[in-house]
Amino acid sequence: MERFRIGLGYDSHRFAEGRPLKLGGITIPGESGLLGHSDADVLLHAIIDALLGAAALGDIGSHFPDDDPAWLDADSGELLVRTRKEVEAAGWTIGNIDATVICEQPKLRPYVDAMRKRIAELLGCPMDSISIKGKTNEGMDAIGQGAGIAVHCVVLVVDRG
Ligand code: MG
Repeated sequence: MERFRIGLGYDSHRFAEGRPLKLGGITIPGESGLLGHSDADVLLHAIIDALLGAAALGDIGSHFPDDDPAWLDADSGELLVRTRKEVEAAGWTIGNIDATVICEQPKLRPYVDAMRKRIAELLGCPMDSISIKGKTNEGMDAIGQGAGIAVHCVVLVVDRG
């Protein structure tokens, strides 16, 4: 019998000078990057937490601690692939992912399909299972004043029995 689970992920990182902006597994040129122990890919981090949550396997901090030198400047794509393997080992197949990325800058639309393609590659899913939506925070609060980027994400996983 098919079983389904959903997972919810959230992450935020503040902007920092002198780092490339990694988002959704791609590098967005000409933009300020994000502060973090790893490459600070806030979108991939939210997806990792959603996947771990769906499978009840803990959270990103328990799997990839931010005080562990092994993950210093880590490629979050590698962390996502490791997460996928754990979720699959627990019997789950990824159904679909829907993410909302909130920032004032950069405008994300030109990059959305490249991010969807890269995430689909990392997860071994069809691209039409990956949705990414860009929003601003209408100038409100720290995100709206350009301090960083926040992401909300949900994922469905399926056990086809
Ligand atoms: Mg993070």
